[in-house]
Amino acid sequence: MALEELYRDVILDHYRNPRHRQPLEAPDRRAEGVNPLCGDEVTVELKMEGDRVVDVAVHGQGCSISQSSGSMMSEAIKGKTRAEIEAIAAKFHSMMTAEDETAAGLDPSRPGAVLGDLEALQGVRRYPVRIKCAALPWTTLEEALGPAG
Ligand code: ZN
Repeated sequence: MALEELYRDVILDHYRNPRHRQPLEAPDRRAEGVNPLCGDEVTVELKMEGDRVVDVAVHGQGCSISQSSGSMMSEAIKGKTRAEIEAIAAKFHSMMTAEDETAAGLDPSRPGAVLGDLEALQGVRRYPVRIKCAALPWTTLEEALGPAG
């Protein structure tokens, strides 16, 4: 199977079966984000223990890119500390803005080795308008986490 097809299947799987979609009963942090260019809406809820995200919910509506990105993000950040999440977010950002996989710090021979399912979104960088869709859950997460300390 070509890599592009594999990535498309991963994106559709997250879109159709979003992970951690069930809203949390008593979130410590919550933020809502919108991408007016596409009409995407994402809500991020976090349960914190110290600076660790022990539970997460991501729900909303919009295109397959925004919603699958939120689902993938929820899997990537659950159980992680703020510092670990910031490192993942930085890698994701460079993946979406770099010229190619190698420049983004990914290993083309081992798909998913660095960022897991999130790497399926890298094809989106060829469509600048859609990068905002993929980034929406992450900017909303940033808002939910708030300033450090
Ligand atoms: Zn969108």
